Amino acid sequence: MSDTIALISNISADQESRYLSALVAAMPDEKIATFRTMNEAQRVQARIAIVANPDPADVAALPNLAWVQSLWAGVEQLVTAWPSGGPPIVRLVDREMSRTMAEAVLAWTYYLQRDMPAYARQQRAGVWRQQAYRKPSALTVGILGLGALGAAAAARVAQAGFKVAGWSRSAKLLPGVNTFSNDDGLTEMLRISDIVVCLVPLTAQTRGLLHAGRLAAIKPGAALINFARGPVVVTDDLLNSLDSGHLTHAVLDVFDEEPLAPDSRLWRHPQVTVLPHISAPTDFETAAAVIAENIAAYRETGVLPCGVEIARGY
Ligand code: NAP
Repeated sequence: MSDTIALISNISADQESRYLSALVAAMPDEKIATFRTMNEAQRVQARIAIVANPDPADVAALPNLAWVQSLWAGVEQLVTAWPSGGPPIVRLVDREMSRTMAEAVLAWTYYLQRDMPAYARQQRAGVWRQQAYRKPSALTVGILGLGALGAAAAARVAQAGFKVAGWSRSAKLLPGVNTFSNDDGLTEMLRISDIVVCLVPLTAQTRGLLHAGRLAAIKPGAALINFARGPVVVTDDLLNSLDSGHLTHAVLDVFDEEPLAPDSRLWRHPQVTVLPHISAPTDFETAAAVIAENIAAYRETGVLPCGVEIARGY
């Protein structure tokens, strides 16, 4: 093939060069270049772009793109800025990322099940007190979103002996998971969940999904894990729920603004665990291998990998 694959990114130089090396190693027969190093002829011929937080003007400067491969699993920023009639977007679906996210969900589920936040508080206060042990089988973990990440997390948590419920847009059948869809299903799932895990993409429908009313519908004494995107949960409503004692703890990996502002109440709230967006980092090598497979399949068949539905937002 004569076309060069464009890498359009707005990430650190170090990250960009690590992605570029991994992509070149995974696709030795392809020409891959960063957008800024491509000449005009290469820009006109480019059929495929691999993007990470791209400047939309750079994407628009490649007039013959057949499709765009995102380096991220979450594409809300890309979709929001996408011009109508723009090329199809394919997002990253990497089994290794699903495994990492499932591991994170299980790790922080154990953190809550074994009352680690309470023991940390007790240690700081010099208090020797044994909390009642709760078996995994006595707790329901309710997962919002049963896609590539949510379904993997549900399977992993079920395997560890927890009861698992899951909610998605379309109705689903998953072994060992009590599944729900639509608004009534969401209310019912929140009512029975001891730990609610957020793994829905950020879209027009899921922005503010967990507002005061829905947080109040969660079982009293439950905890929340948000590994999706900050704006899915209304922060002030969450803080009110924690302050009132309705929710006992929140593990937050994602925020309305990242990095989290130094003056945010979340940093110092005793019932909040703040994580710096680390639940499932993209793995350079496995991501490059998945992208190489997508591109090889496209070169061979002309068929695009399964894409993002722009109107749906994910
Ligand atoms: P995915 O495969 O597209 O799955 C999304 C799931 O959410 C699907 O089950 C979908 O339902 C459901 N959903 C979407 N909109 C909904 C709505 N309005 N109501 C109910 N359910 C809805 O996405 P994924 O790969 O699992 O990733 C999920 C999100 O995780 C990403 O968008 C990203 O924001 C986040 N993420 C975070 C990190 C991190 O490190 N913190 C890393 C990677 C990704 P259907 O099954 O019916 O389509």
